[in-house]
Amino acid sequence: MGKIDEFALIARFFRSCAPPEPSILGIGDDAALLPCASALRGNRDDASATLALTTDTLVAGSHFLPDFAPQDLGWKALAVNLSDLAAMGAEPTAFLLALTLPRYDPEWLEGFARGVQACAQRYGVALIGGDTTRGPLAITITALGVVPWQAAIRRSTAQVGDDLWVSGQPGRAALGLSVRTGRLSGDLPGCSEWIAALERPQPRIALGLALRGIATAMLDISDGLTQDAHHLVETRPELTLCVEEAALPLAPLVAQGAPAEKAWAALLGGGDDYELLFTANPRHRTAVAEAARRAGVSVHRIGSVVPRFIPEASPLVLLRRDGTRTTLPPQGWDPFRVAEPLDLDIQPESFS
Ligand code: ADP
Ligand code: MG
Repeated sequence: MGKIDEFALIARFFRSCAPPEPSILGIGDDAALLPCASALRGNRDDASATLALTTDTLVAGSHFLPDFAPQDLGWKALAVNLSDLAAMGAEPTAFLLALTLPRYDPEWLEGFARGVQACAQRYGVALIGGDTTRGPLAITITALGVVPWQAAIRRSTAQVGDDLWVSGQPGRAALGLSVRTGRLSGDLPGCSEWIAALERPQPRIALGLALRGIATAMLDISDGLTQDAHHLVETRPELTLCVEEAALPLAPLVAQGAPAEKAWAALLGGGDDYELLFTANPRHRTAVAEAARRAGVSVHRIGSVVPRFIPEASPLVLLRRDGTRTTLPPQGWDPFRVAEPLDLDIQPESFS
């Protein structure tokens, strides 16, 4: 296969299948939005019942290590989908499970089902269908949620002057992967927390819901903070995200024993965190803090949305502690760009 990234691939081959109706939100966000009336091809004005739909696949060897415990895999396969609903401010309701299994292994299936069930129970969603086939291990889940059309928080609607926020502690999952693959010592104080972040991600459903009417734009960090941050402005050539080095939550990772350079790379480019990255007007700072408190999640104000006067200028810049600015290239995971999980030993020049 020639070189192409995931987004170019979708744009080239699948955009033409996208819905023409403006009342449907199709390709390009964390979940599609389908007013129930649109699904019935009837009256599209009923904004009260909009379905949020999303699907994500986990493939053995690509998304998880071969020794990943089946319980954790079950949890994670559902959690990563629920995270996309959280990123829309949607309330999850149900999911479909498509399983491709290399063989019938009841012990594995029992563990996997336990993990799926634990996550389903925790977030109050029901399994309503799916598919089971034989082949190399892969799990596809399609999750459904509901959100009033006007309340859905999209990726593309940030405003100049907004604050940029991130929930929780991005970087932990990538550090957990480094521990799991022997590239970081298993004796560091943060190890168990990092591994839990990798294996049992907690979709930020409550925070997503609490941010309705507060966040102007939002997505979840599945592929890496900087890479996903680019998606907030990719359809907005007039906007740049300015991330402040001093505001990034690096110190907690270092305090947990992560070498500073690895912590930095994990924070900015590590995938699999499933934290929420969002923008909100500065007058809502108290409201954001209150939403986070109610959801039981920490939030960090890491930058702001500034005007981009030349479209070619960088969509993402880092304001260093010394006041200088540098471009932040998209760092993270792309299925067609990298064959290996993020290697935290590789330091891009701009991070040095
Ligand atoms: P996320 O990381 O939030 O799961 P992705 O990066 O996987 O989102 O996908 C970005 C957008 O592209 C989403 O809106 C998704 O629905 C859409 N997409 C991905 N693959 C395809 C495909 N094969 N056909 C149509 N749309 C796709
Ligand atoms: Mg997403």
